[in-house]
Amino acid sequence: MKKTWTRRRLLQFGGVAGGSMLLMPSVLSACGKKEGSAAAPEAPKALDCSSTTGLAPADLATRNALKYVDSSPDAQKNCANCALFVAPTQEGGCGSCQVVKGTINPKGYCNSWAPKPEATTGQPT
Ligand code: SF4
Repeated sequence: MKKTWTRRRLLQFGGVAGGSMLLMPSVLSACGKKEGSAAAPEAPKALDCSSTTGLAPADLATRNALKYVDSSPDAQKNCANCALFVAPTQEGGCGSCQVVKGTINPKGYCNSWAPKPEATTGQPT
């Protein structure tokens, strides 16, 4: 049987379609997305190596005495370019230190910072 589009059917269809359009913003907001905009990518979280859980009291005292911080106040000095830093075993993870016990942020700093020796070229002089 062939359906014919009568004026009544067109008005009914238009009412349903229009009602759906009115509900669209609330449906989209329930999904956490806004109409016409892409979801903003989340900023990567900063690496946190500040936990002192499990440290012996003496190691904690050393860490505090040397004023270790997870984020260096000096752009030129940080744990990653310190001679005493031990690089993390996993890329992007916390490293360790020969002086300060516990997890160490490559972007961290303490009062025992010492510059890494200059890289050698391997060429005899
Ligand atoms: Fe970082 Fe201080 Fe250890 Fe150097 S000595 S790696 S600055 S915690």
